[in-house]
Amino acid sequence: MKVSQAGAVAATIALALTTSGCGGNDDAKHTIPIGIKFDQPGLGYRAADGTFSGFDVDVARYVAKELGYKPSEIEFKQVFSADRELLIQFNEVKFVAASYSINDKRKAKVDFAGPYFLAHQDLLVRSSQADITKAEDLNHKKLCSVTGSTSAENVKSNLAPKAELLELPGYSECLVALQDSQLDALTTDNTILAGYAAQEGNQGKFKLAGLNLSKENYGIGIKKGDKELQKKINAALRKMEQDGSWEKFVKANFGAANYKNEPAPAITEGS
Ligand code: GLU
Repeated sequence: MKVSQAGAVAATIALALTTSGCGGNDDAKHTIPIGIKFDQPGLGYRAADGTFSGFDVDVARYVAKELGYKPSEIEFKQVFSADRELLIQFNEVKFVAASYSINDKRKAKVDFAGPYFLAHQDLLVRSSQADITKAEDLNHKKLCSVTGSTSAENVKSNLAPKAELLELPGYSECLVALQDSQLDALTTDNTILAGYAAQEGNQGKFKLAGLNLSKENYGIGIKKGDKELQKKINAALRKMEQDGSWEKFVKANFGAANYKNEPAPAITEGS
């Protein structure tokens, strides 16, 4: 190889390393992209002024801190139920904290740390409705849930296979349709439904059926095979519970709409 050629190759590699952020360059930005929901008040929510709030946001910030990142180094990215695995697989996010239930189908593509919370699938209807009190009432009714969610899967295969199920990208779209009486019910985790029912402007408009239709163990989604990150996040989640932060985050975010949370679940992933 001629000297000039070798120089060109070295320059190309150096450029590739710099642009990919692997060059050990001190100027490289030390940030952590984290996937959260933007439209689930009480869990993952982006306000009009750009600020973030919710239980998943608090958990994500705690975990990021334990991984060595300052609050200013966190870059929250919006995820939808259907694209969580993909965003993790393509390194768009370092981890996902987004009402993300641990299950085997997802574990074929990603790994989880946790769980850090236990929710249950439930139904949300308009306050004036008396026609839906149990899952079977949903058959032949118009129901909304979200593409790629365990809630939609559970309706189709177990709860009410004869329901007319509308699947939208996010639960907030379902809520608008429910309010406009285009639907009979919205189904997903009670955490999410309680958040909508308690949201300013929604009080008195909706009610939860109060059914425990499933067990939804929320995990932190990570790249498949990243055992080191899994271990670090599990340690952060354990610490979060032991130092009282978990309780504090629950109280701060799930206080309204008569939502009664389950105790912190034991960590099972990676063991
Ligand atoms: N926890 C359920 C799931 O992971 C429903 C909530 C959601 O779609 O984020 O699919």
